[in-house]
Amino acid sequence: MTPKIQSVRGMNDILPDEAEFWDLFEETIRSWLKSYGYRPIRLPIVEPTPLFKRAIGEVTDIVEKEMYSFVDALNGEALTLRPEGTAGCVRAAIQHNLVAQQPQRLYYMGQMFRHERPQKGRYRQFHQVGVEALGFSGPDIDAEQILMGARLWGDLGLDGVALQINTLGQAAERTRHRAELISYFEQHGELLDEDARRRLHSNPLRILDSKNPALQEIIRGAPRLIDHLGAESMAHFESVQQVLRDAGQPFEINPRLVRGLDYYNLTVFEWVTDRLGAQGTVCAGGRYDGLVQQLGGKSVPACGFAMGVERLLALLREAGGETTAAAVDVYLVHQGSAASRLAVRVAEGLRDQGIDVLFHCGGGGFKAQMKKADASGANFAVIIGDDEAEAGEVTLKALRANGEQPNEQKRVSVDGLADAIMGSILDWEES
Ligand code: ATP
Ligand code: MG
Repeated sequence: MTPKIQSVRGMNDILPDEAEFWDLFEETIRSWLKSYGYRPIRLPIVEPTPLFKRAIGEVTDIVEKEMYSFVDALNGEALTLRPEGTAGCVRAAIQHNLVAQQPQRLYYMGQMFRHERPQKGRYRQFHQVGVEALGFSGPDIDAEQILMGARLWGDLGLDGVALQINTLGQAAERTRHRAELISYFEQHGELLDEDARRRLHSNPLRILDSKNPALQEIIRGAPRLIDHLGAESMAHFESVQQVLRDAGQPFEINPRLVRGLDYYNLTVFEWVTDRLGAQGTVCAGGRYDGLVQQLGGKSVPACGFAMGVERLLALLREAGGETTAAAVDVYLVHQGSAASRLAVRVAEGLRDQGIDVLFHCGGGGFKAQMKKADASGANFAVIIGDDEAEAGEVTLKALRANGEQPNEQKRVSVDGLADAIMGSILDWEES
């Protein structure tokens, strides 16, 4: 027997039942983003490897061990499947001079790739919705981006997603804290794990972000960055908090919320749930005023966030929200040659009127076709036999109990069919 080929570990197929749920989610996402004036941008999945090394940083989990990088066999170029979207978005903004005229509010959604150990909420191909505001120095935009999250949870009917915020100040303010952090962790050297020891001198801030339970105790006792920040940074942070308080948005200040790179600054935030086990962060973001310049552009302030789609959908499913799309309106049952020819015309005519039609294919008797009609989830069966065809009529049968008697059926003229269906749908919506 020929061996079957399986999908790559950690990269999932999204089958139709599930994919319809994704479509619904993406519709909500698009209208939510539009309501804040964000515009879509579509970016390549493959980018030059140096882009990510520069944008994400050499001393990060992603660049050290999670990237799908390869050499293009045809021209020797070093390429990487994007592990996140900010780098590509900023690259595109620089390349096409997007921020020259005016600031930009941009978003994208799609696959990201990271070679991690697959587990619930952590995959090798996963999806993000990414939101980037380029050319705004905040703190108003920071606060707006945070509050956008709150609105989305509302739109999706999710509760229990909690907000954590922190400030990273500016790179210069972090130097003294960095030295204190290194000496503090050196004192506890024997308790550090391998990752932490490796980062101690290259990227000590990143140790605060460790997920290792054994490290949490010493991380809690570490010197706090916030104690080293100047008035300007604190004022920015205070303004963000003020907007949140004015909006009635609860938050927690989490001093362990960090990004380990110099071009991240000021605001960082995460939306977290305790309903997804260890993979509880559904949205993470903050300010990255240094990145555009770091990637070769002018100095342009920026801030953004990314949401993990798989984690949000898991949360939605767990909350028991609507996960199925509406079925088609009509299943078209037909038997006999004159009937089948009329049926094709009827189906196209209904679609002209905006009515969705599943046209029965593959022949078979009325009884078998009606079973398929029932199983399809359609609201109506339109039935055409040769006697109907001769009379220029069809039989319309309600399959669902949406206010109408299920199984009620009536003969209607071909020309009156669309109106009859629309009328019934309107009746349902009213009742
Ligand atoms: P984590 O700490 O969980 O590894 P991260 O800091 O690597 O997350 P970001 O790079 O900030 O994550 O990505 C933003 C969001 O994308 C995360 O909050 C999470 O919801 C989602 N995400 C990140 N990695 C994965 C993955 N491997 N599988 C599924 N979702 C992911
Ligand atoms: Mg990660």
